[in-house]
Amino acid sequence: MKIICVGRNYIDHAKELNNPIPKTPVLFLKPETAIIPKKNPFFLPDFSDDVHFEAELVIKINKLGKNIQKKFAHKYYSQITVGLDFTARDIQQKQKEKGLPWEISKAFDGSAGIGKFMNISELKNPGNPSFHLLLNDKKLQATSAEEMIFSIDTLIAEISKYFTLKIGDLIFTGTPAGVGKLNKDDQLKLYLEENEVLRLNVK
Ligand code: ZN
Repeated sequence: MKIICVGRNYIDHAKELNNPIPKTPVLFLKPETAIIPKKNPFFLPDFSDDVHFEAELVIKINKLGKNIQKKFAHKYYSQITVGLDFTARDIQQKQKEKGLPWEISKAFDGSAGIGKFMNISELKNPGNPSFHLLLNDKKLQATSAEEMIFSIDTLIAEISKYFTLKIGDLIFTGTPAGVGKLNKDDQLKLYLEENEVLRLNVK
């Protein structure tokens, strides 16, 4: 399986990092080894002094597809959760300045935290679910899918132009404003609507 991630999908987050608003989605990949095994903590990597949390809606692909039209995209997923796209911001900044790929800052071991999946049909607002993150019980990154620049269905259409989507692939749909630095012993909790879907300790 693979993880396809979207950068800059919320206007307020693009602005907080001084990035332009994209005309097409910014895409990058994480390998399967990025996923934090169940019940494990998130270990701060020793190659970075500035690891950020990024809470994002994550969808799971349930059907093989390539060049999927937007109007059919909803047939390719039925489950959603919230995940964490851990980012070594100091390294990413250096890579961006040099025009180099971001993988060492975004796709390292343990850089993907994934919550418990819920059926979209179970949600209160299946079209535009809300989500938020608690950092040491402080509410941050509270938004909903309505604030995305590119909707989930648009993302599936765009992504599947380049990458065949397979059953079990995950799409991280981008983070809203409010990202920040993690410290040892922090605790992260992720909520999809009012359901806690993931709890992670930082070590
Ligand atoms: Zn992200």
